[in-house]
Amino acid sequence: MEFITLNGILPSAVREKRAIPQFNINGVIWLQAVLEAAQEENYPIIIGATDRVVDKLGGFKFIVSMVKDVANQKKITIPIVLHLDHGQSFERCKEAIDAGFSSVMFDGSKLFIDENIAITKKVSEYARKKGVSVEGEIGTVGGNEDGIAGEIKYASKNECLRLVNEANIDALAAALGSVHGEYKGEPNLGFKEMKEISDVVKIPLVLHGASGLPDKQIRKAIELGHSKININTELNQVWAYTLKDIFQNNPTISLPQDVFDIVRSKIKLSAQEKIKLFKN
Ligand SMILES: [Zn+2]
Repeated sequence: MEFITLNGILPSAVREKRAIPQFNINGVIWLQAVLEAAQEENYPIIIGATDRVVDKLGGFKFIVSMVKDVANQKKITIPIVLHLDHGQSFERCKEAIDAGFSSVMFDGSKLFIDENIAITKKVSEYARKKGVSVEGEIGTVGGNEDGIAGEIKYASKNECLRLVNEANIDALAAALGSVHGEYKGEPNLGFKEMKEISDVVKIPLVLHGASGLPDKQIRKAIELGHSKININTELNQVWAYTLKDIFQNNPTISLPQDVFDIVRSKIKLSAQEKIKLFKN
């Protein structure tokens, strides 16, 4: 099987006011669950591996062969993008591309804009030669994800335009009030700013930190041009709650295989709900 790039699925999604889910994987159970969910819904999927988890998952090459093998075993026929989430450097993005990822994000959102543009551009020049798509980021998504902590900092429209035009990216994550991890209090996305950015930036937008956002706000973000929506925390919460529940109610369970199926089916259900919401 071959992975496709963001360009193979996002432009049509934008036109049809749909979004494609990026589900981050934290082990083979997540991967099996989200592939099964997407296949049953007959809907494309983006498999995300966050840079800071990549080595814990076995490294870039291992992830590429794991995703291909599991997809082949399960006879998956829907389009799959394999995407590096929050790539930390040009070198890490290059490693992912060389290993066979079909898409990478360079996260230069904590850098000064000129440096963010320069490195993102270098990533996209290398990626283009290899037929790989690139996502860039402006502004700061709040909260904490895999050790990346930050206060919410809204993306500036001019900086978004500069990154898109100068670095030649395929998708833009513009931080507009969303949070990685759990929301404390009512989530509040900047829809006015979102509309302004969406009107001037002519490429698909990416929503990070979508776990825990009310369905209405997600649908509105899709209407305003977000065609890639990242889900990580919500699947991890399902994993954690399910395990806690199993062990509390069955203190004698000790074999991992006795819990695998239960956990996988719960993660799958949660992923399926998201796909139904994003599908339109
Ligand atoms: Zn993110």
